[in-house]
Amino acid sequence: MSLTASLGRGLRGINRLGLGLSAIVVAFGLVLLSVLWSVVLTEERVEHNEIVTAAVKQHSNLAVAYEEHVVRTLSGLDSALLIVRQEYRRLGRSMSVTRYIEEGIIDERLSSSISITDERGNVLLSSRPMPAASYAEFEFFRVHQLRRGRDALHVGVPVSGTLSEAWQIPLSRPWLKADGSFGGVVVLSMDPGYFARFYRKIDLGAQGLVLLAGLDGMSRASRVDNVLSFGEDLGNSTLIREQARSEYGSFISLGGIDGVQRFVSYRTLVDYPLVVAVGASRAEVLADVTRNRNRDYFVAALITMVIFVFTTALVVALQRQERAAISLATSEARFRATFEQAAIGICHSSLEQRYIAVNRTLCEMLGYTRQELIGMPVWEIIHPDDRGDEPKFRDQLLSGEIESHAAEKRYVRKDGRLIWVNRTVSLVRDYSGEPLYFLRVVEDVTERKRLEQELQALAATDALTGLPNRRSFMARLEEEYARLRRFDTQQVAVLMLDLDYFKNINDTYGHAGGDEVLRQVATLIREEPRRVDLCARLGGEEFAIILAGASAEAAREFAERLRLKIAAAAIVFEGKAIAVTVSIGVAAMMPSDESADVSLLRADAALYKAKDGGRNLVLLADGGGSAAGAAA
Ligand code: GH3
Ligand code: MG
Ligand code: MG
Repeated sequence: MSLTASLGRGLRGINRLGLGLSAIVVAFGLVLLSVLWSVVLTEERVEHNEIVTAAVKQHSNLAVAYEEHVVRTLSGLDSALLIVRQEYRRLGRSMSVTRYIEEGIIDERLSSSISITDERGNVLLSSRPMPAASYAEFEFFRVHQLRRGRDALHVGVPVSGTLSEAWQIPLSRPWLKADGSFGGVVVLSMDPGYFARFYRKIDLGAQGLVLLAGLDGMSRASRVDNVLSFGEDLGNSTLIREQARSEYGSFISLGGIDGVQRFVSYRTLVDYPLVVAVGASRAEVLADVTRNRNRDYFVAALITMVIFVFTTALVVALQRQERAAISLATSEARFRATFEQAAIGICHSSLEQRYIAVNRTLCEMLGYTRQELIGMPVWEIIHPDDRGDEPKFRDQLLSGEIESHAAEKRYVRKDGRLIWVNRTVSLVRDYSGEPLYFLRVVEDVTERKRLEQELQALAATDALTGLPNRRSFMARLEEEYARLRRFDTQQVAVLMLDLDYFKNINDTYGHAGGDEVLRQVATLIREEPRRVDLCARLGGEEFAIILAGASAEAAREFAERLRLKIAAAAIVFEGKAIAVTVSIGVAAMMPSDESADVSLLRADAALYKAKDGGRNLVLLADGGGSAAGAAA
């Protein structure tokens, strides 16, 4: 009852412990994973932010430099316009505009032509050999018309040249008549590629962007993906919207131009209604970050897998161990109960043969308490005569020569009483084969032993007379025969004895009377003072005697004495004296005899001769020494 309860408590304890460990392992795995991933993600975000910040800063600087370049170029060309206008005012139509180009006053690479119109747009003077007749419909001219001669440089929308088909940006200023009214424009055509090609040498990546646009929403020049373009409508672009909000800044374009997202920095020019923008592809800027991130993700994923596999394996191992512990505890409890409650004595003894565990039955069997037995040498309770084989089988068990050893022994109880036990010893080894302890199973066989001995005695004894029976006699005869053949200096004689006319006694006194006679004759033989090695009743009214160490002659003399003693004995049954005589055949056992019973046959033959000779007679068998008979 209490055993079952404590078993249950033990199992619950182990279960709690196992589950707890598994949970800790899983939690530890999760913590490792979350630390790993938060480090990886934070690292990636920090790197991303650093790169973006650096890119924005770099683009802002580039935008400043680009702005300066544009302003310097425009103001240079504007100066030229102002000089030409001054000359025109002074010299009128007689001035030469070609000179400015030819003499290099205006850089030929920047500007290919210079023209002057009247207030209706008709070309008055031109450095070109075949100029267009009128600029009246051109955007730049209409701007100046609308402004009614307000003096400011106008950077026009690019146009494709009529002859060269090359793109040109018209840079123009108005000129005023002497009365102050609008007289026309001085216009200079400029190659927009000069702006677009800027930063060609600076690596903005394969998908870089360089842009000069008017606040009117029309691009003047742009280089996107290394493709130059001019005069595009940017009315809906992010740049124009961003510029409307702030004069300079940075943003991520959503890819309006070519579907490529870019980090773009822009600046609005102070002196001109223009905006410059510089940008690089987001993907290109972040290429390193992306590469690093992919590499980090890959490594982190590998580590995640390792942690997962490791954690899973550990949890599986823990649960397996837990199950093993439970089944071990169960079998341990089962074993304890079996050990303790067995109806047979069980004990463990150390390799030095001292008790280390004993069960209740063994304690009861030996009359000792458990405390008394623990530590006691095992041999101490074995009967001294039965201790002999202990060291031998112990060595045999240790060497593995035998698996177990069973023997019947006498144990001495605490109260001194002997008990017979059937005990089996085996050696318990650990998983690696190292000897741990001896296991003894001890069965009390005292009662069986007693019955056995009783049966043995019964089987060997004649019930009527209490003398050994034929079986005992024959066994003893065999022993004597064997001894004689080994040491033929010894002598052994065998006597066969038969009551005379016993049938008559039976007839006269009844069977009971016959039995009584047999008993009294047996007593007379048994009481014979000379050392009789064995006297037995062979059956009916036949007896046999073994005389060890007696010669044939000595045996004959003994037989003669016995014959006389029986003949003279007063055998009384129911108050009546019965005269009894016996005939005896005597034979010497010979080492040359073929078997033990040959001497008995010889004695029997002598007995029959004695019967024939008239009874109440002793006769010595032929060849067994003197053959002389002696009549009463
Ligand atoms: P002999 O002188 O020739 O030996 O004659 P006998 O009458 O003794 O003849 P025998 O040996 O042939 O007879 C033995 C008799 O002994 C026969 C049997 O009835 C009797 N007898 C055998 N066993 C017992 C016994 O246990 N008790 C009694 N009362 N009689 C027995
Ligand atoms: Mg007889
Ligand atoms: Mg007989």
